[in-house]
Amino acid sequence: MIKASAYTFKILRYDAQDPESTPRFASYRINVIPGLTVLAVLNRIRDEIDGTLAFRSSCRSAVCGSCAMVINGKLDLACRTQVSAFNTDTIILEPLPNFEVIRDLVVDMTPFWRMYDKIQPYLIRHSPVPEKEILQSEAERLRIDQYVNCILCACCYGACPVLAREPDYIGPAAAAKLERFVLDSRDERPAGALEILNDEKGVWACDTLFRCIDACPKEVRPTDAIVGLRKAIVKNRFQKMLGKAKDEA
Ligand code: SF4
Repeated sequence: MIKASAYTFKILRYDAQDPESTPRFASYRINVIPGLTVLAVLNRIRDEIDGTLAFRSSCRSAVCGSCAMVINGKLDLACRTQVSAFNTDTIILEPLPNFEVIRDLVVDMTPFWRMYDKIQPYLIRHSPVPEKEILQSEAERLRIDQYVNCILCACCYGACPVLAREPDYIGPAAAAKLERFVLDSRDERPAGALEILNDEKGVWACDTLFRCIDACPKEVRPTDAIVGLRKAIVKNRFQKMLGKAKDEA
């Protein structure tokens, strides 16, 4: 018989719609069998103990990214985090930092999507539409491999110290997505498209502390993307200057 162990779940509760509400931890004592995830426990609390508990979830398979939260101080997906992974019987759950809380563990993702939209997160082509799909070599696919894995969970956004002080910073996820398309052999966006991130709220704002890399549950390295975009911006600048000098000669 599988033995269950008792855990205390402390969940930060708050309702932005309720003027009387102030952030407070609510405690729930739950028996958990080995292998149970934090998301499974949250579902149990909501279904059996407190139907007002608010959190997001969908796929339960670390694919949709909707159940990102802070679990015992670490940003992660509730669906892929097993309760027994912690060396403690107290699990503290908090909403993602750097976002306004709507209710409990649900945050307002609007700023995240605004930045994402800004970088035009899709293939841009000017060539005539081909009759067949555009094939990529293995090497071409490998260049974008890590960035394709991004599930837009916003863990990197929540972990970013720059966003904590500068909410208009483009953020690691949007930068990683732009690099994904810049490196894609099928994309034809002009070099000038990178200029959107060429300022103090773009790629130059990054402190290069690698917190986004530590937080990413899909092993994406947004800092690599930021460094890659910085290099591309500088290279484009030089090419433009040299091209201009040539024209003037
Ligand atoms: Fe989530 Fe990683 Fe994508 Fe950031 S880069 S949104 S942490 S999957």
